[in-house]
Amino acid sequence: MNLRNLTITEAKEGLKNKQFSAVELTQAALDQIKLQDNNLNAFITVTENEALDAAGHADKLITQGEDKPLLGIPIALKDLFSTKGIRTTAASRVLDNYVPQYDATVVTRLKEAGGVIVGKTNCDAWAHGSSGENSDFDPTKNPYNLEYVPGGSSSGSPVAVTSGMSLMATGTDTGGSIRLPASFCNVVGLKPTYGRVSRYGIVAMASSLDSIGHFTKTVADSALVLGITAGHDPLDATTPNHSVPNYNEFLGYDLKGIRIGVPKEYYAQGLDKNMHKLADDALKVLISRGANVIDITLPYSQSAIAVYYIIQTAEVSSNLGRYDGIRYGNDRSYFGDEAKRRIMLGTYVLSAGYYDAYYKKAQQVRTLIVDDFRKAFEQVDAIVAPVSPTPPWKIGAKTDDPLAMYLSDIFTVTANIAGLPGLAVPAGFINGLPSGIQILGPHFSEDKLFKIGYAYEQETQFWKEAPKLNE
Ligand code: GLN
Repeated sequence: MNLRNLTITEAKEGLKNKQFSAVELTQAALDQIKLQDNNLNAFITVTENEALDAAGHADKLITQGEDKPLLGIPIALKDLFSTKGIRTTAASRVLDNYVPQYDATVVTRLKEAGGVIVGKTNCDAWAHGSSGENSDFDPTKNPYNLEYVPGGSSSGSPVAVTSGMSLMATGTDTGGSIRLPASFCNVVGLKPTYGRVSRYGIVAMASSLDSIGHFTKTVADSALVLGITAGHDPLDATTPNHSVPNYNEFLGYDLKGIRIGVPKEYYAQGLDKNMHKLADDALKVLISRGANVIDITLPYSQSAIAVYYIIQTAEVSSNLGRYDGIRYGNDRSYFGDEAKRRIMLGTYVLSAGYYDAYYKKAQQVRTLIVDDFRKAFEQVDAIVAPVSPTPPWKIGAKTDDPLAMYLSDIFTVTANIAGLPGLAVPAGFINGLPSGIQILGPHFSEDKLFKIGYAYEQETQFWKEAPKLNE
């Protein structure tokens, strides 16, 4: 048995049956990091000693018969999640030496569930990007082909999961940063409903769009993790008091009666023909499981990129104001080009004289986009679409053209603008590189997304195709 290839569900079974210990499981993840991360660059910080201590403690608890949902499971955290006593950089040299005094709420919950933190993963600096190339700590590579991007901004987390360096990793999705890299790395990525998971203690990008989620190999694992991270947090006023169901209870094989919407704007010009075929094949699978596929329209999607890059940069310019070099971190000269571009754009759209023309107008169109989805969900239970218009691209292909990079978010930003949940699931390979589909639903419909994703995954099993890394 190769310990690093296990799902969380399988690893829990193995730990319970004493097939291996938490220390052995953690050591397998750490060994893989040592062996592969010089090439892949998925981690900024590896917490080997802390991990082995935590795993040893987990083994004691397991012997005592303790049962926690992630007890002894190696996990990794995007380096945007504050970790008490462990450096947290947001992949920016501004925070090169920053060590937080407290844990983000999600980190507290994952630790209480027994998770063993193996390290902090690489990403685009401040989560600005779609490829991982904006990291001040060098780009992460796609394990399926080292010349290609793994997707971003959460680049290191899906790479860690797909190449066996941790069984689960966290991410943030402000405009697609969980769904896009999940899709490019053949793993499952969940962007929960806005407010379903606490943002407390996570370096803020754009506060009305930020959603906190995770990467796993399978849908069942994703459901298990959401059960731990979701729920009200007194430290984040945007988390409502909705109860957290046992998401794994909704998983099944049958999709009879489920209505799946196919938005014509997402299957139009600009969609790569191989991606189109991959999404068509996915719809066929869903139909074979009993789903009804219905054509729908989301007419304001065409304005989504414009709306997103106005609202997002406005909020970024405000959130990055706290890194003034006085209270903590290095001074502002350490900001990279992309952060500077966003601060300038955001300050411009908020400035007197331009506010009405840009920021206010964007907020008005935001409401129209929200309304598009509201109407669509009167007709259908969920929407299925490709995650991105193209498969993964070569490292460097878009770095000189920020607009081309921004356009890769065209199918993902809408869910953030409307606060909706989205689940990215592996959907096959194009020239040896993975791509996924996303399932979107109404607010707080994660249970339904898991159900659809699980039925699809049972039928297709693309996630089992691990990258072939040199040993
Ligand atoms: N790619 C998008 C951007 O650059 C989304 C980033 C994200 O979701 N964090 O803004």
